[in-house]
Amino acid sequence: MSEQKTSCIFCKIANGTIPCYKVYEDNEVIAFLDVNPSSRGHTLVLPKEHFSSMVTCPKNLLDHVMEVAQLIAQAQIAQLGASGANVITNIGEKAGQTIPHFHVHVIPRYEKDGILLQLPTSKLNEQDVKLIVDSIQKGI
Ligand code: AMP
Ligand code: ZN
Repeated sequence: MSEQKTSCIFCKIANGTIPCYKVYEDNEVIAFLDVNPSSRGHTLVLPKEHFSSMVTCPKNLLDHVMEVAQLIAQAQIAQLGASGANVITNIGEKAGQTIPHFHVHVIPRYEKDGILLQLPTSKLNEQDVKLIVDSIQKGI
């Protein structure tokens, strides 16, 4: 059982202490509109229980969160006229995570919505490839 953080804003939303624009809820998962949306319908999906990021969330719960994220994306496309969506989770401050309670952004995309998600690219370093592959495989 993970620690339920009394100071965590998403724990407070999950337990009803702080209001939100809820679009989905079941026993383990809640989804609500992002208060500062990147696009119309931008939704956050999270476990009610506190886990600091995707990395520490138990697998069954992670599966459940992603199932709900899929439902939200389907609804954004079918009901809001989105042409697609970005499904993003930030892990750690360096990656842009500002609230340390695991959550998945489901950001509907529209024609000419002005959102630029441009990741830098580089050449794969052939000398480093074996070490990278071995390291990741060792950690799985
Ligand atoms: P991240 O940067 O991945 O941690 O995302 C945190 C997100 O939570 C941001 O997009 C915020 O706009 C959003 N957010 C912060 N406070 C609230 C709130 N009270 N209700 C809904 N969304 C929130
Ligand atoms: Zn929390």
